[in-house]
Amino acid sequence: MSAQSHCAVDPPFWESLEKKPGFSSYKSYDKTFTSSPNNCAKCGEGIANDRPGCTALNQTFHLACFTCSACNKELAGGSFYALDGKPLCEIDYMNTLEKCDKCNKAITEKLLRASGKAYHPLCFTCVVCRTSLDGVPFTVDSANNVHCVTCFHDKFAPRCAVCSKPIVPESEGDRESVRVVAMDKSFHVNCYRCEDCGMQLSSKIEGHGCYPLDSHLYCKACNTARVRALTANA
Ligand SMILES: [Zn+2]
Ligand SMILES: [Zn+2]
Ligand SMILES: [Zn+2]
Ligand SMILES: [Zn+2]
Ligand SMILES: [Zn+2]
Ligand SMILES: [Zn+2]
Repeated sequence: MSAQSHCAVDPPFWESLEKKPGFSSYKSYDKTFTSSPNNCAKCGEGIANDRPGCTALNQTFHLACFTCSACNKELAGGSFYALDGKPLCEIDYMNTLEKCDKCNKAITEKLLRASGKAYHPLCFTCVVCRTSLDGVPFTVDSANNVHCVTCFHDKFAPRCAVCSKPIVPESEGDRESVRVVAMDKSFHVNCYRCEDCGMQLSSKIEGHGCYPLDSHLYCKACNTARVRALTANA
């Protein structure tokens, strides 16, 4: 009449986030000078009065040769970003960054990746309670909505027919929840009790089987007593 089943409330997977550390920060180059034992790392010619140089990224350049590696804009006098050892102006650096799937802005600091998409930590939130899911388990429903564990269970876990709370895994690390399924309803193992004497019912324990009457739960003894009372009154 009843079965303890491992419940199918679990999402296909709990994901955790892939995090990237901070990106290379804004740098400014070292002081400029008009003579140097080193030649320009770009054009190979000497640094001189009429062609002053600077050092940046541990190399020497003419000021005019130190340019953004993407758009060739001169970087002299300003700051630059270094990406894989190459200097970039701010615009081109921002263009190399991934955009947040939620707000569509470049991600300059910590990047979170989930289901292949990138997010700012603060943009990656549970659709129900809006808390950031940075560093906590989450899951995605069939419509691709991101949920924290609590909200997911709240929304999708089966409800216990006795206490009407969701039936969820006992401890946080557990992926499976255990429930009793009887009379097309679900019950917490601990809620599955005889309505008269309170004995916990289980088909697995001798003498604790469930003997329902009009979709109420009774143990064998209480069922017998009720049936006897009904027939006596009839
Ligand atoms: Zn040069
Ligand atoms: Zn540029
Ligand atoms: Zn964002
Ligand atoms: Zn939530
Ligand atoms: Zn319950
Ligand atoms: Zn009973």
